[in-house]
Amino acid sequence: EEVKTKKSNHKLVDFTQIDKELLPTVIIVGRPNVGKSALFNRLIQRREALVYNTPDDHVTRDIRDGIAKLGDLRFHILDSAGLEAAATSGSILGRTADMTANVISRSQIAIFLIAARDGLQSMDLQVGKWLRKHAPGIKIVLVMNKSESLDESDGSLAAAAGEAYSLGFGDPIAISAETGLGMADLYDALKPFLEKHMLQDSCSPESQESKLPLQLAIVGRPNVGKSTLLNTLLQEERVLVGPEAGLTRDSIRAQFQYDGRTVDTAGWLERLKEKGPASLSIMQTRKNLMRAHVIALVLDGEEVAETKRSMKHAEVVIARQAVEEGRGLVIVVNKVDLLKQKQNSKLYENVIKAIPEEIQKLIPQVTGIPVLFVSALEGRGRIAVMRQVIDTYEKWCLRLSTSRLNRWLRKVHSWKDQAAQPKIKYFTQVKARPPTFVAFVKGKTVLSDTEIRFLIKSLKEDFDMGGIPIRILQRSIS
Ligand code: GDP
Ligand code: GDP
Repeated sequence: EEVKTKKSNHKLVDFTQIDKELLPTVIIVGRPNVGKSALFNRLIQRREALVYNTPDDHVTRDIRDGIAKLGDLRFHILDSAGLEAAATSGSILGRTADMTANVISRSQIAIFLIAARDGLQSMDLQVGKWLRKHAPGIKIVLVMNKSESLDESDGSLAAAAGEAYSLGFGDPIAISAETGLGMADLYDALKPFLEKHMLQDSCSPESQESKLPLQLAIVGRPNVGKSTLLNTLLQEERVLVGPEAGLTRDSIRAQFQYDGRTVDTAGWLERLKEKGPASLSIMQTRKNLMRAHVIALVLDGEEVAETKRSMKHAEVVIARQAVEEGRGLVIVVNKVDLLKQKQNSKLYENVIKAIPEEIQKLIPQVTGIPVLFVSALEGRGRIAVMRQVIDTYEKWCLRLSTSRLNRWLRKVHSWKDQAAQPKIKYFTQVKARPPTFVAFVKGKTVLSDTEIRFLIKSLKEDFDMGGIPIRILQRSIS
């Protein structure tokens, strides 16, 4: 039952690391020998690539990780060897494919690489099929490598392109990782998607982003009342796209307007299985969580009262993943009508008091997680849920000016004579969604975990950002 807490990832990071946090991610996938490494090397140019191991019981697969430069585009690039395993079979390899699915879900764009010279192979088809299944919502750019010997005049280029088109990912971009042919075309193909991603990072009211729907994920175990809650939310609002009854209830999606905002709950009625954290349902959920802005985790209030435990294992895992992935988290304790009916009226009061405290203990990574008590069936708590979701979203989007932050920093320092004070020269927010800050520290000094936690706590108190996952990176300056 014990869930391991992920080790703190506050460490001194160099510029490269900070860039990676901020840049959109592109992953190269394809069967062995299509030239993934060659393309990766060309894109990172002479820059250093980090190779990190992702141990998976018996196999160790390398995922190379670097910063790509293509014209004026900069992006975080991953070269995944794992997908090769997806095309072959076997249980260990299958699990490697799961792992790759996890890496893919962190990417905004996948370059699906094939090799013109080799013709389309059955493994390419399998990779395509795998991608279609595991990379929904991720832009897939089909790229045909080893095209340098193909010719437009003899029709060989058109023939290869036609064959590649049959994969169903549109027209391929012909390149040669070896000679550099087609890099301008690759640039043109990636640019609009990379720019779109950068735009999504901006939260100012006049930005394009604020016109995009708020992505709300309603997650929870079966029967906690997710569908009922969604229907309650939809009742009073202007429904733009109503729930579609799919084959399973997981496919319910809805879009509605609340307080002038468009809220989208597309496809996020996840069913969490109670088995171990590595189960596929959790993997799938995690993938979808990555794309949500705010996650509403629904718990069954009656069950909570009976078992005297606020969250089950699967729920703790999901909540922790949500905050680790930097999503805004709101906990919704449903079915409180049942508690009030119980003879012992003390029960309700006890639950209301004990649950937020217990949840805080279970998710120590983020303080001040909002907990709401509702009855979806009776329609009570609808407004409270929506207000909290919007509030969490807005704070998640918050951008604080550097001058304000540095004034704040001086104030924090004078309040508490923290050892951190002389270490930080400059403090700035580099990103929102979730709020990410960089502390510029002197020379070789490094802020300790305690110091980072203190800063996060102070930021939360002073800027009213309870429940929001805040990240602080460090950068050394002389
Ligand atoms: P990976 O297994 O997908 O990472 O493929 P590699 O990058 O290791 O490349 C496999 C083989 O294809 C190597 O021998 C490369 O030299 C060769 N290769 C890679 N890109 C090209 C290319 O654009 N043209 C040609 N002719 N060969 C290439
Ligand atoms: P889902 O599987 O999480 O989507 O759960 P449903 O929305 O289908 O609800 C499961 C069951 O719980 C249904 O019988 C609902 O009527 C019931 N339910 C949902 N919300 C409430 C509530 O607030 N109070 C009570 N008493 N029952 C509820």
